[in-house]
Amino acid sequence: MKQHFDEHCIFCKIIKGEIPSQKVYEDEQVTAFKDIHPAAPIHLLFVHKNHTQDINHTLAESPQDILDLFAAIKSYTQKERLDDRGFRIITNLGVDGGQSVFHTHFHLLAGKKLPFQLA
Ligand code: 5GP
Ligand code: ZN
Repeated sequence: MKQHFDEHCIFCKIIKGEIPSQKVYEDEQVTAFKDIHPAAPIHLLFVHKNHTQDINHTLAESPQDILDLFAAIKSYTQKERLDDRGFRIITNLGVDGGQSVFHTHFHLLAGKKLPFQLA
């Protein structure tokens, strides 16, 4: 398994267990935990154990990681039956996207009818 950590990255520290988190899912490649500032009744962050800084870097450096992440999301949402009522996946890139943690992650939002706001 390809795995690279960034020693200053908060999500790498969560993956290694150096910072506590409420983990809800784990497999060989991917971890998911509750967002510390939930924006919906269910707000989880899916992160690959291989550090890359955003989705464009992931696609360039390690494209399989994207498939690993979506496979984990599919597995989790089916097991928890979140696909019955549906959910939303978001990833942010850069300043205008509002990215604040530079370790590629997908937000999973669910648990209510989500409002759609562009800004
Ligand atoms: P971004 O803004 O980069 O798309 O998303 C980063 C997310 O990480 C934010 O929603 C923020 O609440 C969450 N977050 C930041 N630091 C921590 C932390 O230490 N623990 C957890 N569980 N979530 C965090
Ligand atoms: Zn990282």
